[in-house]
Amino acid sequence: MKKPATTAPAPQGLLRVVLPVPLRREFDYLCPLPLPAPGCRVRVPFGNRTMVGLVLSHPEQTEVDLARIKPVTAMLDTSPVLGEAERQLLAWSAQYYLHPPGEVYFQALPTLLRKGEEADYRPVEVWHSLEGDNTTLSRAVKQRQAYELLIQGPMTPGELAARGVTSATLNALAKKGLVQKREQLPARTDWRGEIRIHEDGKPRLTTEQALAVSLLQQAEGFTPFLLEGITGSGKTEVYLQAMEPVLKAGQQVLVMVPEIGLTPQTIARFQRRFALPVCTLHSAMNERERLDAWLACKDGSAAIVIGTRSALLTPFDRLGLIIIDEEHDGSFKQQDGFRYHARDLALLRARQLNIPILLGSATPSFESLHNAACGKYQLLTLSQRPGSATVAEHLLLDSRHVQLEAGLSPQLQQLMAGELEKGNQVMLFLNRRGYAPVLLCHDCGWLADCERCDAHYTWHKHGNRLHCHHCDHQRAKPPHCPQCGSAQLVGTGLGTEQVEQALAALFPQYSAIRIDRDNTRRKGSFEQHLEGIRAGKYQILIGTQMLAKGHHFPDVTLVAMLDVDGALFAGDFRAAERLAQLYIQVAGRAGRASKPGRVVLQTHHPDHALLQDLANQGYRHFAHTALEERCQAGLPPYSYQALFRCQATQGEACRAFLVPLAQQLAPALPASVLCLGPFSARMERKAGQYRYQLLLQAGNRRDLASACRRALAIADTLAAARKVRWSLDVDPQELW
Ligand code: ADP
Ligand code: ZN
Ligand code: ZN
Repeated sequence: MKKPATTAPAPQGLLRVVLPVPLRREFDYLCPLPLPAPGCRVRVPFGNRTMVGLVLSHPEQTEVDLARIKPVTAMLDTSPVLGEAERQLLAWSAQYYLHPPGEVYFQALPTLLRKGEEADYRPVEVWHSLEGDNTTLSRAVKQRQAYELLIQGPMTPGELAARGVTSATLNALAKKGLVQKREQLPARTDWRGEIRIHEDGKPRLTTEQALAVSLLQQAEGFTPFLLEGITGSGKTEVYLQAMEPVLKAGQQVLVMVPEIGLTPQTIARFQRRFALPVCTLHSAMNERERLDAWLACKDGSAAIVIGTRSALLTPFDRLGLIIIDEEHDGSFKQQDGFRYHARDLALLRARQLNIPILLGSATPSFESLHNAACGKYQLLTLSQRPGSATVAEHLLLDSRHVQLEAGLSPQLQQLMAGELEKGNQVMLFLNRRGYAPVLLCHDCGWLADCERCDAHYTWHKHGNRLHCHHCDHQRAKPPHCPQCGSAQLVGTGLGTEQVEQALAALFPQYSAIRIDRDNTRRKGSFEQHLEGIRAGKYQILIGTQMLAKGHHFPDVTLVAMLDVDGALFAGDFRAAERLAQLYIQVAGRAGRASKPGRVVLQTHHPDHALLQDLANQGYRHFAHTALEERCQAGLPPYSYQALFRCQATQGEACRAFLVPLAQQLAPALPASVLCLGPFSARMERKAGQYRYQLLLQAGNRRDLASACRRALAIADTLAAARKVRWSLDVDPQELW
């Protein structure tokens, strides 16, 4: 029997949606009226499953056959999760980086929203303070600090952890009846109208600081600034004072910091100055914490947002200023998936919102220095440290012809002894963890090589294991040579473990601490080590670049870099820039307080122009020379690059894709675009994958972009593309 005709079908419209799939296109769906606004999420069928999608627009018509177009499954939002400004920024980013738009849009959403969770706060566990007898806390420093923090207002366990408060401390306080855990909705304060600034912590600005602050405070509309200030010159104070008028006007401030820079001390500095809601956004937060912080940015209840790279893609209710600290840091560039550079997108966002943006660094990236030189950025300089703090003296130590002991020359040992005897601390820097970077057989020359990489295993004496630092593969150290059976397996080269061991013998009366990724894995252990250093528990610090960034050790008066020679001859044209930045960072650890400091660089190439320039003339001079060289060589920032990377279990598969790509692309290229390659990665095989690349370089961005689009279109037609994993990186920061 025929079904009786029911009511007319509900009126429907079309939705254009992006989905988190690696396809460079959008998708159309049918949806009952009223249609969800652009920026809302919907659940839609895709293949044989459903996915969360984001509505971009309501098209009038579609190229898809109406009979085949599918209806949405569910609507997830009543108001947009991404506003118009954010969507515009993301659309532009997808265009610029030529990345699948869905992946770009979904990068801007916290994981819970990607999964379809409601875009709202949930009650969370918070710790709050109770009235009680707190006299017992006078000697329990950590408990007292935690208690004082909670008196100012309740905090989540995550927020407390970010401020260095452990659960042990909280439990101890709970036992004393001074704090309690409860569930509550996160506070959504409207902080406008009652801006309190703690004036007591404000120092008198130096002339340079005052000039910078006044220029920043007067800035109206889109104005990019580059603040170049030597380590310890008081950049953070400039940030704090530049933020004042913005916050007073009720606008939010975004402070971006490198991955490693988001420490409890950083957060505390902002909190001490402003009695305002500060929220953090970083990868160590759990999904719920991230969503809550994201919502607080979006609805404006967070006044100051301190975050790492991804914070840049977060929606803000009324963003008034962007600050990027350590703007040269490599962690602002995402190295997989949507390969955006947060600094570059931040500039775009500031322009879009018509607000000032401040990039700060002791060692600005060459790109930024170039932009300042062309007048695109206003340059602010802090060349002096406030107060009596002195600038360190730089020395190059020739390590040729002398007997090194675990990498330490006799002259360096003497300098160390001198400082240690005066009760000062010494910091040794070596960017290689483990005991020795190579293990070989003394009798037959066998080398312990990783089976999956074109690389040697690093020998870690701790745990007696071999560890490949490229693919992370580990195995026990063999007792005998697998080739000749000899027991004479010896390490060559130097790692931090070895230096640590040697120090115990060379300076038995002083205690040394090693700081690298191997002994800071446990949560909180890094902080613990830092505390021990500040408290003077250790006199000698040996570490990798973990130790180089942002930590203040007032008693360190001698800093030595043991071995940078490898970086002098690296293939990447940015290697010199990175080495210089690292050197200045490391040097910045010396003499930060009132004690004068010394920076020593041990090298087999004391006459190398780069080292001479750095040690004697400083970073700015070095950068100037190096930029001239890049200009002559036509390298970025004087040209623009894009890199096709390709990997497969067989090198031939990579070539089968990249060779025809290059061949078909060549005739279509304008004269200003160079196509270089394909060539193999310097380490051709990594984790069992062969890696090849094709580099495009152009004199202007427009030609580069059209060449990339052309290449993408060709790639779509090549069957070999489906047998490899490949990606496009616009403005790559490194070659493979
Ligand atoms: P940077 O970020 O440039 O390395 P910081 O902002 O950390 O430098 O400042 C270094 C130290 O100098 C901090 O302890 C800071 O409190 C202090 N400081 C900053 N500005 C002044 C000033 N004008 N007078 C005195 N001390 C200052
Ligand atoms: Zn052997
Ligand atoms: Zn490996």
